[in-house]
Amino acid sequence: DKYKDGLSKTRKSFSEKINDLVARYRKVDEDFFEDLEEVLIAADVGVTTVMDLIEELQMEVKRRNIKDTAEVKDVISEKLVEIYKGEDETTENTALNMQKDELTVILFVGVNGVGKTTTIGKLAHQLKSEGKEVLLTAGDTFRAGAIQQLNEWGDRVGVDVIKHNEGSDPAAVIYDGIQAAKSRNADVLLCDTAGRLQNKVNLMNELAKVKRVIEREVPNAPHEVLLVLDATTGQNALSQAKTFSEATDVSGIVLTKLDGTAKGGIVLAIRNELDLPVKLVGLGEKMTDLQTFDPNAFVYGLFA
Ligand code: GDP
Repeated sequence: DKYKDGLSKTRKSFSEKINDLVARYRKVDEDFFEDLEEVLIAADVGVTTVMDLIEELQMEVKRRNIKDTAEVKDVISEKLVEIYKGEDETTENTALNMQKDELTVILFVGVNGVGKTTTIGKLAHQLKSEGKEVLLTAGDTFRAGAIQQLNEWGDRVGVDVIKHNEGSDPAAVIYDGIQAAKSRNADVLLCDTAGRLQNKVNLMNELAKVKRVIEREVPNAPHEVLLVLDATTGQNALSQAKTFSEATDVSGIVLTKLDGTAKGGIVLAIRNELDLPVKLVGLGEKMTDLQTFDPNAFVYGLFA
């Protein structure tokens, strides 16, 4: 399936290394856990998350009186799923907050090159195939070519793109997008934004202004503010997430390019360290390579 294919690089490094460990140690001891710690850190699971996980594993191994490393493998996948789901979370909160009979507005934020435009195109395709009327808004008026690129996705998917000229006010184009969505009775409006991080104050002001316009024009909107992160940037993605969370209220994460990294463990670090749900994952460049994040399928994909 998609997860299995998309995670093949991570799976290769991750499960091969774990299988090596299991074969090498046979008996569960301190050294085994130390080596396991290294494997997890190398997969970008994140130091804090790895520490939590190892502690949980050690307790579970004691509780179940497990002596054999082969048995530990199953416990690892169980614990990975648990860590992902958190104390009171269920997979349900990975679903997008879609409105039933009203316009749903989704704002996309994130730095240049992470895959924002591509994700918007893929999601537009997905929603359209569910029978929804979708409209895109080219709110990244800053990056050269961003408007054109979104437009190309619109053509490919067969949805309209509301756009202004490069350099114009993002809030103004998003305002126009909302008016167009209302007059056409659209179901979903997907809004791109500029991703410059060099000047945090500008970023904050721009996002705040865009959000104000959306809030004023559509009750309870934006319904999602999705932060797009590139999985291949590893721990850097974590620091971007911190910056954007400070700039705006992020409701969920889209993690792109999981197919391009052996360090898919970043999903767990994001969930555990930022307390933000990963809602969608990008597993390739094609229109159909966007998946709703499913912790079970993800962890299964790592070991399958
Ligand atoms: P933006 O600047 O954030 O809008 O980023 P783009 O949408 O332009 O994406 C940057 C590059 O990443 C493009 O070449 C995309 O094809 C590629 N990309 C986006 N998502 C994925 C993904 O899930 N997997 C892979 N392999 N490539 C992706």
